[in-house]
Amino acid sequence: MNTQQLRHCIQRLYERWITKLSYCLLLCLVLSQSTAAQAQLKVQTDFPGGSGEVVSLNEKNQHLVLNPTNHPGHGWRCWWYVRLTGIRPGETVTLDVGNAPWATPDQATFSVDGGETWQHTEKGERDQKRIVYKLKVDADFVLVAWGPPFVSSDAKALVEKLAAGSEAASAFTLCQTRGGRETPAIRIGAEEGRDKPLVWIQARQHAWESGSSWVAQGFGEWLVSDDAGAVWLRRNTEVVLVPVMDIDNVDLGAGGKSQTPHDHNRDWGDDPHWNSVAAAHALIRKAAENDKLAAFVDLHNPAAEDLSPFFYLSSEEIMSDAAKVNQTRFLAIAKEEMRGPLRFNGRVKSSGSAYDKNWTKISGNWASLLGTPAIAVTLETSWNTPHSTTENYRTIGRQLGQSISRSLKEQAESGKNEKD
Ligand SMILES: [Zn+2]
Repeated sequence: MNTQQLRHCIQRLYERWITKLSYCLLLCLVLSQSTAAQAQLKVQTDFPGGSGEVVSLNEKNQHLVLNPTNHPGHGWRCWWYVRLTGIRPGETVTLDVGNAPWATPDQATFSVDGGETWQHTEKGERDQKRIVYKLKVDADFVLVAWGPPFVSSDAKALVEKLAAGSEAASAFTLCQTRGGRETPAIRIGAEEGRDKPLVWIQARQHAWESGSSWVAQGFGEWLVSDDAGAVWLRRNTEVVLVPVMDIDNVDLGAGGKSQTPHDHNRDWGDDPHWNSVAAAHALIRKAAENDKLAAFVDLHNPAAEDLSPFFYLSSEEIMSDAAKVNQTRFLAIAKEEMRGPLRFNGRVKSSGSAYDKNWTKISGNWASLLGTPAIAVTLETSWNTPHSTTENYRTIGRQLGQSISRSLKEQAESGKNEKD
């Protein structure tokens, strides 16, 4: 190789090396840019139940100020549920939310496994109408919400799971909503040719009260189990369970309470506006007319300061004598069965005329006005306590099931004794 050939060879090697270096630099640039893009804190709400309007977002401090999305005409602005992506794992994210009291639980709820399991944040720090939660997770994305979400797909999954787990259970669609969505429901214990007493359990007439759907889930899971009380209830009654009554607002991520023209729980007049109420109304009325209505239970979450569960009852003036006896028995048993962690200590309130001018259009009162011996109550399960978790909501649902079962069994036995 002469000098010229050597020079040429060195030049070619140099060119190749430069090309490789350029590739490397380009790759590094692309990677660093995509990492930068991933690391950018973002707020998403484009999924069922999602709600949150960003007031400000400080990327550097991972500090986010948020309000529930405003949905005029769709009820209270209190429910929020966001997906945060681009979190720097292990660093603290600060979430500032308002307004108190309805949108500001002491502890927010979050999931790092895409909504499989939910846990509480540490207690937030209040500042007038707002609350600040600090969240440190070892993940680059997290779901954070007012309480454990439960949307239409959860309702569908629940009724399908219960139907698959029990021969006595069959899933059905209560109605199609005004928004064109299906309302999943399940019937458990129905038997061809046997007209059994009806037990009706429903949740979420108010969309923001997500905890009540978890109570419904606990009740349903218990009812298809081998527990003796559950076996008795499904052998001797037909139970209908509706985990979400206001599917449209739940999936929209709106509050639902006091929506236009009125909310689901002021819709129980002669001509219901909402399709789920109309469908429930027809089935319950039919059972009542056939003297087959045994129990009606409406599941809600109460006010922030209600730190123990309680029942709303109809005023006695509209209850049949038999209903009063059956309700007294039920409440005594519920006090024994619903013993915590979310404990019913016997506290009750009246949803009578002094409570609301449209009191006769509240579901529990409407059910009492049918004049049957049925138990007709509204269970308000506290949402603003350290115990207000998915697990404990399900526990009180199970305990509610036991209370209904024991109560109806004793009622049936006392009826038999009277006949003897
Ligand atoms: Zn409610």
